[in-house]
Amino acid sequence: MDIGGTKDFEFNIRDPKFLDEQALWEEAKRVYSKCKDCRMCVTYCPSFPALFDAVDRHDDDIEKLSKEELALPLELCFHCKQCYFKCPYTPPHEWRIDFPHLSLRYKVWKFKNKGAKLIDRLMVNTDLVGKLSVPFAGIVNKLNNTKPVRVILENFMGIDRRAKLPPINSQTLVDWYKENRKPVKGENGKIALFSTCLFNYNYLEKGIALLRVLEKNDLWVEIPEVQCCGIPFFDVGDIDTVIEKAKHNVKVLKSYVSAGYDIVVPVPTCALQIKYEYPLLLPEDPDAKLVSEKVFDVHEYLWKLKEKGRLNQDFR
Ligand code: SF4
Ligand code: SF4
Repeated sequence: MDIGGTKDFEFNIRDPKFLDEQALWEEAKRVYSKCKDCRMCVTYCPSFPALFDAVDRHDDDIEKLSKEELALPLELCFHCKQCYFKCPYTPPHEWRIDFPHLSLRYKVWKFKNKGAKLIDRLMVNTDLVGKLSVPFAGIVNKLNNTKPVRVILENFMGIDRRAKLPPINSQTLVDWYKENRKPVKGENGKIALFSTCLFNYNYLEKGIALLRVLEKNDLWVEIPEVQCCGIPFFDVGDIDTVIEKAKHNVKVLKSYVSAGYDIVVPVPTCALQIKYEYPLLLPEDPDAKLVSEKVFDVHEYLWKLKEKGRLNQDFR
């Protein structure tokens, strides 16, 4: 599916064979047969070493891979898209390699047929976890750093006790901005800031710093009432929930685009989600494409201003 001449993907949820198990394994074998001879992505993530180990165990014969061996590389993908952007064989190349979307297709198939553990479904619901945690930020932040709680989190949620957990904000970024926005004329542009779960619930200081940079540059900023972009739900393959969130966010963001706002996103994963995944998830909604065209990663947006000589870099 071409989404506007810039990026093309091998992912079509309308394809009648999208959820067909046999077609899924055939596509995995097709992609693996190219990757095994290329091996460029071996250092990017655990998916490719798992694939190449399996191929080597079977003397280079893809047909001998078991279903478990076919599934493991797709299971291990965490959708960073590094391989997609580096691979020379992505669409429109005739090989049409799109490893992250193959992984997503597998996870969607798995979720529809086998479901997901309740705890995994809770963990990907970053909006809900954030909303529940913020009023108790002080105690949650303290408990999250105690050994007994880390042991419980490891045993029940699979979170390694050594992993650094993000802090919980004492206030959401949205609420902070309502109380602390500075008056600007907005002569340098109008921005709808997609707050993101990370900034809204976990990294308030970074969000404040960003808002101050935008205000200093005389940018008029609104923070729309959006939901999570939905990408955490890709991890469990719950595509229906992602589609619901995409519909909601496109509706909200479209009203800003129509009023002349650019959509600026401070977390690259969420920016990729709105810009590239929403039009694939909502192929019949022209507004998804309209919104997509106005989405900018925050660094891209500031760089654009700099190139036009309109970025005030006078920071102490
Ligand atoms: S995704 Fe592309 S670049 Fe990476 S190993 Fe496969 S064919 Fe090679
Ligand atoms: S998108 Fe998936 S397969 Fe590709 S580099 Fe990232 S984690 Fe690995």
